[in-house]
Amino acid sequence: MILLGVFAHPDDECTVAGGVFVRHGGQSILVSCTNGEFGDDVGGVKPGAPGHDPVRVAATRRAELDAACGRLGVSVIERLGYHDSGMPGWDAFTDQTVFSAVAVESVALRVRALVDRYRPDVVVTHNADAAHEHVDHRHAARATALAVEGLPTTLYFGATGAVRFRELMEALAHNGIHRPPADVDRRRGLELIESRITTRVALGPAVVDKRAALFEHASQLGSSLAAQLTAEQYEAVFGTETFIRVQGEWGL
Ligand SMILES: [Zn+2]
Repeated sequence: MILLGVFAHPDDECTVAGGVFVRHGGQSILVSCTNGEFGDDVGGVKPGAPGHDPVRVAATRRAELDAACGRLGVSVIERLGYHDSGMPGWDAFTDQTVFSAVAVESVALRVRALVDRYRPDVVVTHNADAAHEHVDHRHAARATALAVEGLPTTLYFGATGAVRFRELMEALAHNGIHRPPADVDRRRGLELIESRITTRVALGPAVVDKRAALFEHASQLGSSLAAQLTAEQYEAVFGTETFIRVQGEWGL
């Protein structure tokens, strides 16, 4: 089986489907849509803050993605090179060159070209329908769904539902990290995702490599909730990956 993943930013591959890549024995291709320029710079400096250099951040994250993909056993990395969109409200968010401002059909054509080249049996990406997800995640997922529409390719959306969200919040609270509770819309959204999950992959020992791959994204760990968990907590919360099968019949 040939596996292809399409993710918005370097490090998303670990969160969404890292364990599936580790467990996969055949050829695997990882498509990274953006350079992740609006991640944290050295020392956790945020975009727009003095000392944040998007070019340096992109270079750092490129090397980190290489290292993470080594841990995950990825055969080929394909970078689409779009500019990270950042978060709503940021000045750069309205910049027409950012990923989410590129027409979804245009992105889909580039993903389709890679699908035609590698002929994956299974494609995994973000959840296009998760309203609370980063705009780049939904954009990548919409483009991917469009790219494989009508093909025999099996498509999965990664799905973080209410159960894992609650387990993560509980583990963080145990460590003294108290996040604001999810509002009604978010809770409803998480329950809806939970109800749509079709596929649960128990990672077994692969979760250790998944976590190691996450830690290769060293520059971003200050913003990673998963990185605030102990190894034992991480294995409990992230030891199963959950997906929504959108089309096709291949199992994960
Ligand atoms: Zn992301």
